[in-house]
Amino acid sequence: MKKQLLDSFGRVHTNLRISVTDVCNFRCIYCMPEDMVFMPDSALMTYNEILHFTRIFVGLGVNKIRITGGEPLVRPGVPHLIEQLGQIDALKDISLTTNGIGLITQAQALYDAGLRRINVSLDTLNEEKFEQMTRRKVLSRVIEGLKAAHDCGFNPIKVNAVAMRGFTDDEIVDLATFARQNSYQLRFIEFMPLDADDIWGRNMFIPGKEIIDKISSVYPLERMTLNGDAKSDTAQRFRFADNGTELGVIPSVSEPFCESCNRIRLTADGKFRTCLFSLTETDLLTPLREGADDETIENLIIDAVAKKEAGHKINAADFVKPERNMSRIGG
Ligand code: SAM
Ligand code: SF4
Repeated sequence: MKKQLLDSFGRVHTNLRISVTDVCNFRCIYCMPEDMVFMPDSALMTYNEILHFTRIFVGLGVNKIRITGGEPLVRPGVPHLIEQLGQIDALKDISLTTNGIGLITQAQALYDAGLRRINVSLDTLNEEKFEQMTRRKVLSRVIEGLKAAHDCGFNPIKVNAVAMRGFTDDEIVDLATFARQNSYQLRFIEFMPLDADDIWGRNMFIPGKEIIDKISSVYPLERMTLNGDAKSDTAQRFRFADNGTELGVIPSVSEPFCESCNRIRLTADGKFRTCLFSLTETDLLTPLREGADDETIENLIIDAVAKKEAGHKINAADFVKPERNMSRIGG
């Protein structure tokens, strides 16, 4: 019988996010502090270790991988990693999430390595707000990076936007206009309590429904019906009625989708996490470096998935924030 990563709630896990570094050239306020301390290089999985783990995960039924970070494109050699991942049979979908800057120089190499799907984070089109959100004055370079990806032929290009009350409420429609004009698929992500500075509060996230209402008051939208694999998509998907460009909201806080979650994560230092909000994690890298065989690693993964939590508890009175912030987990 084919191996699979089944948990005690009957969820089968096929979608793995791999963080290749916790380092980043931005300091987004909803993610990390200005004086973030990064892990030493020796703590990070080497590319060979990442490939080794990926083969084990694929043997356990994973067929979708997203490379993320920190900022993945600050680590040299990501295109080569993508090329090698692409040679793993049964891996049918490889994608990357980036803040976009690295695309100016690396979009073509990533495309040539076989990558086709990319998510670029962009929360605002206003220079000043961009600088407040990321603590970097580089909005035009992110737009340039997006354009470089578009010119290479990436499809789809998704634009991830974290909507924050008090910062970007008034930009929701502008971002929608920007995305539809450029055929980018906009994805609004609700701000989650994974920031390092403890700025998250219930008054700070904008519920997905409010976002959709705002956009649809200007551009009529159609809800998309999801079938097959797409059912475990975290996004509620819509399209602009007039031009068909897709957009979505990821309402992790206001309408959690934990019941159909098929995601698991590997941090840059080789810790396996079954949920963004897990309070425990399983060290896979130390056993690998100490010579553990594949069966031992497989069993560690299978046991951790079997114990996966029912869902996050953001909305519960006993919610406890994980020790790791978003950039150290891999968003
Ligand atoms: N550096 C890359 C980037 O920004 O796209 C990849 C890593 S980043 C951690 C992945 C995604 O997580 C980004 O789209 C970012 O906006 C999102 N993110 C970071 N902190 C978040 C938070 N507290 N709540 C919701 N999304 C968050
Ligand atoms: Fe860096 Fe991405 Fe975190 Fe922003 S969200 S600080 S770009 S890792």
